[in-house]
Amino acid sequence: MHKRLYIPGPVDVRPDVLGKFATPMIGHRTKEASALQRRISDKLRILLETKNVILLSTSSGSGLMEGAVRSCTRRRAAVFSIGAFGDRWHKMAVSNGVPADRFDSPPGQATLPEQVEAALATGLYDVVCLTHNETMTGVTNPVEEIARVLRRYPEVVWCVDAVSSLGGVRIEVDRLGIDVCITSTQKCLGLPPGMSLCSVSEKAVRAAEQVPFRGLYFDFVELYKFVTEKDHQYPATPSLPHMFALDYQLDRILAEGPEARFDRHARMAGMVRDWARSRFALFSDPRYLSNTVTCIANTRNLSFPDLNRRMGEKGYALSNGYGVLKDRTFRIAHMADTLPDEVAAMLACLDGTLDEMATEDKEERA
Ligand SMILES: *Cc1c(COP(=O)(O)O)cnc(C)c1O
Repeated sequence: MHKRLYIPGPVDVRPDVLGKFATPMIGHRTKEASALQRRISDKLRILLETKNVILLSTSSGSGLMEGAVRSCTRRRAAVFSIGAFGDRWHKMAVSNGVPADRFDSPPGQATLPEQVEAALATGLYDVVCLTHNETMTGVTNPVEEIARVLRRYPEVVWCVDAVSSLGGVRIEVDRLGIDVCITSTQKCLGLPPGMSLCSVSEKAVRAAEQVPFRGLYFDFVELYKFVTEKDHQYPATPSLPHMFALDYQLDRILAEGPEARFDRHARMAGMVRDWARSRFALFSDPRYLSNTVTCIANTRNLSFPDLNRRMGEKGYALSNGYGVLKDRTFRIAHMADTLPDEVAAMLACLDGTLDEMATEDKEERA
C-alpha cells in the first residue's frame, strides 16, 4: 500500500505529473531542449517574482547550496543557522576551503535582523547564507526585515536556501534583493527528487568571476554562461525527464495561481497548528511558524515510532524529529499539491490513532 506522504520531502506527486517522466527523450543539444529550458525559466521567473536568470541543476538542492557558497565567496561567508540545514551549509563552505563563520540561533528560533547587522558591520563578509524555512524546526525566517539590513551592504551577495518553502510560500526575489534563491523539486514544487534550481543575479555572477577555484559541476559562472550565451543549454547532460515534468507542473502551479497556492499552504498550516495545539504543543517560536512544515513538541512523551507505525497501517507517513530534536519532536509537512480536505482526513486519522493508543495504555495499566 502506498502511504500518503506528510513528510517534508519527497512529497506525493500527482499521477499526470509522474506520467511526464515517461516522455520520449530528445537530444540535450537540440533547439527543443533550449526551448524547454527557456519555457521553464519564464514560468519560474513568474513564481519567484524575478527578472534574474534561472539555473537548473541535475542534483538535489544541496548541490546548488554548495555551488553557491563556493562560487560566490571572494573573502568570507557569514552563514546564519537556525538548525540542521544552516549547519550543513556552513559545513559545505568549510569542506570546500571557503572561509566561513556560523551564526547560530537556538532551535525553534529565527535569525534576527540584528544578528545579520552585527555580522555585516564587521566588514569581514561578502556573502550571506540564510535558510528561508528551517525544515528541522518549522521556522520561517523574517526575510523582509533581514532584506532591509542587506540593502545597506550592496557588495554582499545574499544566498537563500528556500528548499522547503519555494512554491508554497511567497518569496519576492527581486523586491527583497535575493541574489541566489535555491530550491529542490521534491518539496513544495511537487515533483520527484533529483533536480534543483535557483535564480541568480548578475551581481552574484560578477562576484563569482573573481573567485579563482569554483569547481566545475556546480560552477555558477559556467552554468550562467551556458544558459545566457549558448541559448539555454547546460555544460553536462541535464535530467530531461525532470525538465519535461517541471515544464508541465509549472503550468499547473500557474493555473492554480501562486497566490491561491500560498493561501492553500497557509490554510493547511493553520489546520495542523490548531490540531497540534489541541493535542500537544508547537515546538517553535509562534512568531515565525512555517506554512509548509509543522514541528510538534512531543509533550505527551509518547512513542513516535509506534504512532507512525500505526499511521502507516492506515496509509499515512509522518516524520520523526530531525537531528538533535529526534526524540523531542515530530513533524507534519503540508506542502506541494496536498489539499486541505486531505489534511483534515489525515488529522482525523491521527485523532483516532491517539485515542486508540490511550485506550490500550489504560487497559494495560488496569
Ligand atoms: C531538504 C532540504 C535541504 C536539502 O535539499 P536536498 O534537495 O535534499 O539536497 C536543504 N535545506 C532545507 C531547508 C531542506 O528542507
